[in-house]
Amino acid sequence: MRYEGQIYRPPSEAYSYILQVTIGCSHNRCAFCNMYADKQFRIRSLKEVLEDLKMARRAYRYVERIFLADGDALIVKTDMLLEILQTIRRLFPECERITSYASARDLLIKSEEELKLLQKAGLDMVYLGLESGSERILKEIDKGVTVAETVEACRKAKAAGIRLSITQITGLGGQDGMEENARESARALSLIKPEYIGIMTLTLRRGTKMSRDFEAGRFKRLTPKQIVEEMRMLVAGLDSEGSILRSNHISNYVQLRGTLNRDRQMMLDQLDAALASGKLENEYISYLENL
Ligand code: SF4
Repeated sequence: MRYEGQIYRPPSEAYSYILQVTIGCSHNRCAFCNMYADKQFRIRSLKEVLEDLKMARRAYRYVERIFLADGDALIVKTDMLLEILQTIRRLFPECERITSYASARDLLIKSEEELKLLQKAGLDMVYLGLESGSERILKEIDKGVTVAETVEACRKAKAAGIRLSITQITGLGGQDGMEENARESARALSLIKPEYIGIMTLTLRRGTKMSRDFEAGRFKRLTPKQIVEEMRMLVAGLDSEGSILRSNHISNYVQLRGTLNRDRQMMLDQLDAALASGKLENEYISYLENL
């Protein structure tokens, strides 16, 4: 298969065939993110993408899931995306799920009609980073969209039948924004009510603005114990009936999995047990920070 640079995918796409539709991220400015820092954003040509699909068909006998990469593949024009989705349908009739990363902007620039066409052509779910439900924190990290825009983008996707997996980053507001990040993220997620909520923990990645701010003393990161306290505030504030909540990313100190609102207390008990264990006083999960 042909791939350019480091490939990222959500944990639940571990067994998917990954198809690079774009290279990098069109925004590429979030203060905490270095995933695509070394890539100049571009949309691959349709010819190249279709060639990759044919190569994958020859290489793999059975492909159950396909993930469209890189950062925000949904930025691609609807006509081209439809052609890619239709080719997937034709070449991989066994494929049960096609998913992609998407930014709120990608969803906002498409009409509801276009999103419905994409859903009908097989786009089942998009992964979107809310990061924080606080307008202030989103501005600080240069997310490039507001919370209100993200909520509206998610409403459009849902109206088109596209399922949502939304990520939130605990610790993103630092010590000063700990409560705000939890409270406002719970509020935004409760408005969106996505099918999946994924919690990640802030890691200070090399070369990012956030790691420079930390080194210079401008950003006060949370301790592992505070991270779990913030997660607890977030989970306690969520009202999102039916959403599956997971914190299965390797950045997390506590691995949660449950369905809201039914399992909220069970997850709170798990967080309380971690807080009472004394183990969180130890070290930061720092191996990610050298990536
Ligand atoms: S967090 Fe997402 S939108 Fe922001 S720079 Fe990284 S990939 Fe791009």
